[in-house]
Amino acid sequence: MKLGILGGTFNPIHLGHLRVAEEIGEDIGLTKVYLIPSGMPPHKPQKPLADFSHRLEMVRLASKTSPILEVWDIEGKRPGLSYSIETLRLFHSHFGSKLELFFIIGADAFIEIKTWKEYQDLFAYASFVVINRPGFNKENFLTFLDSLDVGFVWDQKRKCSCHPSGNILLNKDTTLIDISATQIREMVAMKKSIRFLVPEVVREYIEKVGLYLN
Ligand code: ATP
Repeated sequence: MKLGILGGTFNPIHLGHLRVAEEIGEDIGLTKVYLIPSGMPPHKPQKPLADFSHRLEMVRLASKTSPILEVWDIEGKRPGLSYSIETLRLFHSHFGSKLELFFIIGADAFIEIKTWKEYQDLFAYASFVVINRPGFNKENFLTFLDSLDVGFVWDQKRKCSCHPSGNILLNKDTTLIDISATQIREMVAMKKSIRFLVPEVVREYIEKVGLYLN
Protein backbone atom coordinates (compact mmCIF):
# COMPACT_ATOMS: atom_id res chain seq x y z
CA MET A 1 0.00 0.00 0.00
CA LYS A 2 1.57 3.29 -1.17
CA LEU A 3 0.20 6.31 0.68
CA GLY A 4 1.14 9.98 0.49
CA ILE A 5 0.96 12.69 3.12
CA LEU A 6 0.71 16.41 2.45
CA GLY A 7 0.73 18.26 5.74
CA GLY A 8 0.12 21.97 6.04
CA THR A 9 -1.41 24.74 8.02
CA PHE A 10 -4.00 25.00 5.23
CA ASN A 11 -4.97 28.45 6.45
CA PRO A 12 -6.73 28.21 3.98
CA ILE A 13 -6.16 25.32 1.56
CA HIS A 14 -5.68 26.59 -2.02
CA LEU A 15 -5.24 25.30 -5.57
CA GLY A 16 -1.42 25.14 -5.18
CA HIS A 17 -1.79 22.52 -2.41
CA LEU A 18 -4.49 20.56 -4.21
CA ARG A 19 -2.72 20.41 -7.55
CA VAL A 20 0.53 19.18 -5.95
CA ALA A 21 -1.27 16.42 -4.02
CA GLU A 22 -3.23 15.26 -7.07
CA GLU A 23 -0.27 15.39 -9.48
CA ILE A 24 2.23 13.64 -7.23
CA GLY A 25 -0.32 11.00 -6.28
CA GLU A 26 -0.88 10.20 -9.93
CA ASP A 27 2.78 10.53 -10.91
CA ILE A 28 4.16 8.06 -8.38
CA GLY A 29 1.11 5.81 -8.25
CA LEU A 30 -0.14 6.45 -4.73
CA THR A 31 -3.34 4.75 -3.59
CA LYS A 32 -4.30 7.84 -1.57
CA VAL A 33 -2.79 11.17 -0.59
CA TYR A 34 -3.74 12.21 2.96
CA LEU A 35 -4.12 15.92 3.58
CA ILE A 36 -3.22 16.50 7.22
CA PRO A 37 -4.08 19.93 8.62
CA SER A 38 -1.71 20.90 11.40
CA GLY A 39 -3.40 21.31 14.79
CA MET A 40 -0.85 23.69 16.30
CA PRO A 41 1.89 24.42 13.74
CA PRO A 42 5.23 24.56 15.60
CA HIS A 43 6.91 26.70 12.91
CA LYS A 44 4.19 29.09 11.91
CA PRO A 45 2.97 31.54 14.50
CA GLN A 46 0.30 32.94 12.19
CA LYS A 47 -2.15 35.73 12.64
CA PRO A 48 -4.94 35.14 11.98
CA LEU A 49 -4.80 31.34 12.34
CA ALA A 50 -8.34 30.11 11.72
CA ASP A 51 -9.62 27.50 14.19
CA PHE A 52 -8.65 23.92 13.42
CA SER A 53 -12.32 23.07 12.84
CA HIS A 54 -12.59 25.68 10.06
CA ARG A 55 -9.30 24.70 8.40
CA LEU A 56 -10.34 21.03 8.55
CA GLU A 57 -13.74 21.75 7.05
CA MET A 58 -12.18 23.73 4.17
CA VAL A 59 -9.80 20.81 3.44
CA ARG A 60 -12.78 18.42 3.49
CA LEU A 61 -14.80 20.56 1.11
CA ALA A 62 -11.84 21.13 -1.22
CA SER A 63 -10.89 17.47 -1.58
CA LYS A 64 -14.40 16.03 -1.95
CA THR A 65 -14.34 15.74 -5.74
CA SER A 66 -10.95 13.97 -5.93
CA PRO A 67 -10.88 10.16 -5.84
CA ILE A 68 -7.30 10.19 -4.55
CA LEU A 69 -7.39 12.81 -1.79
CA GLU A 70 -8.31 11.89 1.79
CA VAL A 71 -8.45 14.06 4.89
CA TRP A 72 -7.31 12.96 8.34
CA ASP A 73 -7.72 15.09 11.47
CA ILE A 74 -5.09 13.29 13.58
CA GLU A 75 -3.04 16.41 14.31
CA GLY A 76 -6.08 18.27 15.56
CA LYS A 77 -6.92 15.49 18.00
CA ARG A 78 -3.40 15.36 19.48
CA PRO A 79 -2.77 17.83 22.30
CA GLY A 80 0.16 20.26 22.04
CA LEU A 81 2.26 21.22 19.04
CA SER A 82 1.83 19.15 15.87
CA TYR A 83 5.05 17.29 15.10
CA SER A 84 5.38 15.35 11.84
CA ILE A 85 7.47 12.61 13.44
CA GLU A 86 4.49 11.68 15.63
CA THR A 87 2.16 11.67 12.60
CA LEU A 88 4.51 9.37 10.68
CA ARG A 89 4.72 6.96 13.62
CA LEU A 90 0.95 6.94 13.85
CA PHE A 91 0.58 6.13 10.15
CA HIS A 92 2.85 3.12 10.60
CA SER A 93 1.04 1.83 13.67
CA HIS A 94 -2.34 2.39 11.99
CA PHE A 95 -1.61 0.90 8.54
CA GLY A 96 0.86 -1.82 9.52
CA SER A 97 3.97 -3.32 7.94
CA LYS A 98 2.84 -3.25 4.28
CA LEU A 99 2.76 0.56 4.28
CA GLU A 100 5.02 2.50 1.90
CA LEU A 101 4.79 6.14 2.91
CA PHE A 102 5.63 9.25 0.83
CA PHE A 103 5.88 12.61 2.57
CA ILE A 104 5.17 15.39 0.08
CA ILE A 105 6.66 18.77 0.93
CA GLY A 106 7.47 22.06 -0.83
CA ALA A 107 11.16 22.96 -1.11
CA ASP A 108 10.49 26.14 0.93
CA ALA A 109 9.37 24.00 3.87
CA PHE A 110 12.00 21.28 3.33
CA ILE A 111 14.95 23.64 3.70
CA GLU A 112 13.70 24.35 7.24
CA ILE A 113 13.69 20.66 8.16
CA LYS A 114 16.66 20.88 10.54
CA THR A 115 14.39 22.80 12.91
CA TRP A 116 11.87 19.93 13.03
CA LYS A 117 11.59 17.60 16.02
CA GLU A 118 13.80 14.48 15.58
CA TYR A 119 14.32 15.44 11.94
CA GLN A 120 16.99 12.82 11.32
CA ASP A 121 14.52 10.04 12.16
CA LEU A 122 11.86 11.25 9.71
CA PHE A 123 13.63 9.67 6.73
CA ALA A 124 13.40 6.18 8.21
CA TYR A 125 9.61 6.42 8.32
CA ALA A 126 8.87 7.81 4.85
CA SER A 127 10.27 8.55 1.44
CA PHE A 128 10.29 12.27 0.71
CA VAL A 129 8.97 14.03 -2.39
CA VAL A 130 10.36 17.56 -2.43
CA ILE A 131 8.47 19.90 -4.76
CA ASN A 132 10.43 22.65 -6.48
CA ARG A 133 9.13 26.13 -5.70
CA PRO A 134 9.92 29.46 -7.36
CA GLY A 135 13.31 30.80 -6.29
CA PHE A 136 14.52 27.40 -5.11
CA ASN A 137 18.12 26.68 -6.10
CA LYS A 138 18.33 23.05 -7.32
CA GLU A 139 22.12 23.18 -7.66
CA ASN A 140 22.76 23.35 -3.92
CA PHE A 141 20.21 20.68 -3.10
CA LEU A 142 22.60 17.70 -2.88
CA THR A 143 24.93 19.72 -0.65
CA PHE A 144 21.96 20.50 1.59
CA LEU A 145 21.05 16.79 1.74
CA ASP A 146 24.63 15.96 2.77
CA SER A 147 24.42 18.53 5.54
CA LEU A 148 21.47 16.61 7.05
CA ASP A 149 24.00 13.90 7.89
CA VAL A 150 21.54 11.02 7.55
CA GLY A 151 23.40 8.99 4.90
CA PHE A 152 21.65 9.97 1.66
CA VAL A 153 23.50 8.64 -1.42
CA TRP A 154 22.69 9.80 -4.95
CA ASP A 155 21.54 6.98 -7.27
CA GLN A 156 22.24 8.08 -10.86
CA LYS A 157 20.17 5.25 -12.38
CA ARG A 158 17.03 5.91 -10.35
CA LYS A 159 17.64 9.69 -10.31
CA CYS A 160 16.93 9.96 -6.59
CA SER A 161 18.75 10.03 -3.27
CA CYS A 162 18.65 6.81 -1.26
CA HIS A 163 18.48 6.60 2.51
CA PRO A 164 20.06 3.64 4.38
CA SER A 165 16.53 2.53 5.40
CA GLY A 166 15.65 1.90 1.73
CA ASN A 167 13.45 4.99 1.58
CA ILE A 168 14.19 7.51 -1.15
CA LEU A 169 14.09 11.25 -1.68
CA LEU A 170 12.77 12.58 -4.97
CA ASN A 171 12.96 16.14 -6.22
CA LYS A 172 9.92 16.89 -8.42
CA ASP A 173 8.52 19.64 -10.58
CA THR A 174 4.76 20.07 -10.68
CA THR A 175 2.52 22.54 -12.45
CA LEU A 176 3.49 25.85 -10.96
CA ILE A 177 0.67 27.63 -9.16
CA ASP A 178 2.52 30.38 -7.41
CA ILE A 179 0.08 31.34 -4.67
CA SER A 180 0.24 31.19 -0.90
CA ALA A 181 -2.27 31.13 1.92
CA THR A 182 -0.71 34.35 3.22
CA GLN A 183 -1.57 36.08 -0.05
CA ILE A 184 -5.15 34.75 0.11
CA ARG A 185 -5.65 35.93 3.71
CA GLU A 186 -4.35 39.37 2.76
CA MET A 187 -6.68 39.56 -0.23
CA VAL A 188 -9.71 38.61 1.92
CA ALA A 189 -8.74 41.26 4.48
CA MET A 190 -8.57 43.84 1.67
CA LYS A 191 -11.98 42.64 0.39
CA LYS A 192 -10.43 41.51 -2.89
CA SER A 193 -11.72 38.52 -4.87
CA ILE A 194 -10.06 35.14 -4.21
CA ARG A 195 -12.14 33.43 -6.89
CA PHE A 196 -10.07 30.89 -8.95
CA LEU A 197 -7.32 30.78 -6.30
CA VAL A 198 -9.24 28.42 -4.02
CA PRO A 199 -12.02 25.96 -4.90
CA GLU A 200 -15.38 27.72 -5.08
CA VAL A 201 -16.67 25.76 -2.05
CA VAL A 202 -13.75 27.08 0.01
CA ARG A 203 -14.35 30.64 -1.15
CA GLU A 204 -18.01 30.34 -0.15
CA TYR A 205 -17.06 28.89 3.26
CA ILE A 206 -14.61 31.74 3.97
CA GLU A 207 -17.29 34.26 3.04
CA LYS A 208 -20.05 32.51 5.03
CA VAL A 209 -17.99 32.24 8.25
CA GLY A 210 -16.29 35.60 7.76
CA LEU A 211 -12.74 34.23 8.05
CA TYR A 212 -9.63 36.43 7.60
CA LEU A 213 -11.51 39.70 7.55
CA ASN A 214 -9.05 41.35 9.93
P1 ATP B 1 1.34 30.38 4.35
O1 ATP B 1 1.35 31.38 3.22
O2 ATP B 1 0.27 30.62 5.36
O3 ATP B 1 2.70 30.23 4.98
P2 ATP B 1 1.28 28.16 2.43
O4 ATP B 1 0.44 28.62 1.30
O5 ATP B 1 2.77 28.13 2.23
O6 ATP B 1 0.91 28.96 3.76
P3 ATP B 1 1.13 25.69 3.95
O7 ATP B 1 -0.13 25.19 4.51
O8 ATP B 1 2.11 26.22 4.90
O9 ATP B 1 0.72 26.76 2.80
O10 ATP B 1 1.83 24.62 3.00
C1 ATP B 1 1.75 23.24 3.14
C2 ATP B 1 2.66 22.59 2.13
O11 ATP B 1 2.28 22.93 0.79
C3 ATP B 1 4.13 22.98 2.25
O12 ATP B 1 4.92 21.83 2.01
C4 ATP B 1 4.32 24.02 1.16
O13 ATP B 1 5.65 24.06 0.69
C5 ATP B 1 3.38 23.51 0.08
N1 ATP B 1 2.82 24.59 -0.74
C6 ATP B 1 2.27 25.73 -0.34
N2 ATP B 1 1.87 26.49 -1.37
C7 ATP B 1 2.18 25.80 -2.49
C8 ATP B 1 2.05 26.06 -3.91
N3 ATP B 1 1.51 27.18 -4.37
N4 ATP B 1 2.52 25.12 -4.77
C9 ATP B 1 3.10 24.00 -4.30
N5 ATP B 1 3.25 23.68 -2.99
C10 ATP B 1 2.80 24.57 -2.09
